[in-house]
Amino acid sequence: TDPVLDVKGLKTYFFTDDGQVPAVDGIDFHVKEGEILGIVGESGCGKSVTSLSVMGLLPSPPGKVVDGKILYNGEDITYASESRMRQIRGNDIAMIFQEPMTSLNPVFTIGSQLIEAIRIHRKCSKKQARARAIDLLKLVGLPRADELVDEFPHQLSGGMRQRVMIAMAMACDPKVLIADEPTTALDVTIQAQILDLMLKLNRETKTAIIIITHDLGVVAQMCQRLVVMYAGKVVEEGTVKDIYNNPKHPYTKGLIQSVPDMREKKQRLYSIKGSVPKPGSIKKGCQFAPRCEYVMTDCLEQEPQLTGNEHLVRCLLYRE
Ligand code: SF4
Ligand code: MG
Repeated sequence: TDPVLDVKGLKTYFFTDDGQVPAVDGIDFHVKEGEILGIVGESGCGKSVTSLSVMGLLPSPPGKVVDGKILYNGEDITYASESRMRQIRGNDIAMIFQEPMTSLNPVFTIGSQLIEAIRIHRKCSKKQARARAIDLLKLVGLPRADELVDEFPHQLSGGMRQRVMIAMAMACDPKVLIADEPTTALDVTIQAQILDLMLKLNRETKTAIIIITHDLGVVAQMCQRLVVMYAGKVVEEGTVKDIYNNPKHPYTKGLIQSVPDMREKKQRLYSIKGSVPKPGSIKKGCQFAPRCEYVMTDCLEQEPQLTGNEHLVRCLLYRE
């Protein structure tokens, strides 16, 4: 089957007073119906800019897609009009964010926000929409849905609000759900419940899911395939199994080592030294070189290419 979302060679740059910043610098990924794809990397790697580019929500200016293609069901939506993008966001591609409090309006009830979301997408009476809202709250496993519908966001816990956001995203029966750090703000137990819920929705509705996270532990339980991003580029791609059993890129190895131990119930300190470079600040060679334990002289001169078939890696250690 063809991918429902296919991103090819996407480049998103920011044009600032200090010059152009290549936040996303030529990435490819796709997701098919029923599939769950993980996009992993630290913050500043370009993950969120990627999802905002796909959703047509890039702050523009200063952000701009300068190259590549975003195909939704074969339709090129890279430069689609705002009205077309609004349709797509309403009916086809939904997104959930990290902090649900900022995405829910505090002055309206849960129900009125859900009802509004439902009525944007389908013609139905307020009464029908309310019934659907209650069904959606039940679908995402919220208790006493018929009371909750009349409550305000602040009356709910963080985990419950995130479920409401998922209900909101599911209101339009999306073909693709993009979840950007969906559980980062939540404690470990709630995090596991939210991930279970997304798995269940994926199984029941065949919605393709893209999970964007810095936490390899999250994607390990959820995804079939993984894309690891660093400094605006894909540095490794493959099945979760291949990447876990045989991580190739030094960055991926570092990420795997820094997966927090669930039994410790606390985040271990990040084990990769240094931080993600400002996009565009490293002009030559491998972007990961300043942090890499395996760095060689060539790495400072030669930019590695993504190579391989099923399991791809961008690192000179694997040059043919
Ligand atoms: Fe490290 Fe060189 Fe590979 Fe870059 S290309 S990740 S610096 S070994
Ligand atoms: Mg982010």
